[in-house]
Amino acid sequence: MPEGREVLLQGTIIYGEDFRAEKGYIAIRDGIITEFGREHVEADLEGIICPRFINAHIHLGDSAFKDPPFLSLSELVGPGGYKSRMLERKAREMLIEGIKRSLHLMLSSGTIAFADFREGGAAGVAMLQEALVDMPLLSRILGRPGPSQTRIPESCWGLGISSSRDHSPETIAAAVAQARQKSQAVGIHAGEAGRDDIHSALALQPDFLVHMNRAEDADLRQVASRGISVVVCPRSNLMTGVGLPPVAAMARLGINLAAGTDNVMLSSPDMFEEMHLIANALLHDDRQVFKMCTLNGAKIVGLDRRLGSIREGKEGRVMVLDGNSDNLWGSTDPLSSIVRRASRSDIMAIL
Ligand SMILES: [Zn+2]
Repeated sequence: MPEGREVLLQGTIIYGEDFRAEKGYIAIRDGIITEFGREHVEADLEGIICPRFINAHIHLGDSAFKDPPFLSLSELVGPGGYKSRMLERKAREMLIEGIKRSLHLMLSSGTIAFADFREGGAAGVAMLQEALVDMPLLSRILGRPGPSQTRIPESCWGLGISSSRDHSPETIAAAVAQARQKSQAVGIHAGEAGRDDIHSALALQPDFLVHMNRAEDADLRQVASRGISVVVCPRSNLMTGVGLPPVAAMARLGINLAAGTDNVMLSSPDMFEEMHLIANALLHDDRQVFKMCTLNGAKIVGLDRRLGSIREGKEGRVMVLDGNSDNLWGSTDPLSSIVRRASRSDIMAIL
């Protein structure tokens, strides 16, 4: 819809930071939510209105090849593994085309912002930036030191380390110090293949950890007490056979929990699919699960004042779902239906 004029959306609004389903309308002017009310108005569109997703962890770089054989995690994404061999084989333009396709899918499935762990140094960052031209998505690019260079590529938003065991402690310490000097965020994969890299990851005082499927209660208590966020990617964990993250235990400890779709070669960058799995298998709390996929992720990427929930003053980055679709008709709880069964085919409009 055009910016620069008022847009009125009517229906069931998933409102505020506790995501209550409210009957009413919102007005959006110049991209900002200016009004919420409970009366009936002559609206531009009517449906179920909810905030768009934040995909808090993705690797877009491997979008040009899909669905690898079932191999172990190290055979898939470790040094010299399937992913690195495939990346070497693909031409640059194919890799960029793959990223563009994934960005399109993210847009059409309701995502507004994402955090990408970027391999390939400055050249890798340039590929993603080229794919992002004219794409109305907000990106947070987290670079990492390469084999021949210790500096995080310029223009990265933060540092995204594959694992504290993939580099020497000196290299990692230098990269973290560099990131902190620039007030950049630090994220690390940890507790994915095993528990052994959790302690060294925590010692780096990161802003967030990714995966933690192998974490035990003692690890989680440390994460909670240090105020570190966790991003879980359970579909990726299923594919690589490493076990599912203890999301309910993390939630009980009050950890800021978000969700990501991880490597595109493993799972589609569609947050509805990640949300369904979390809600059905890991955390029977629809409100918390929706918050993981929106506001909690926005906090991690530093966008929670602008995005992640519907409230006056925030950006009107919302999606309108068709409550009368074959999938959603008869819903008795709109939030639960969004979290457990809605899909991108239910979306009528994305703002
Ligand atoms: Zn990852």
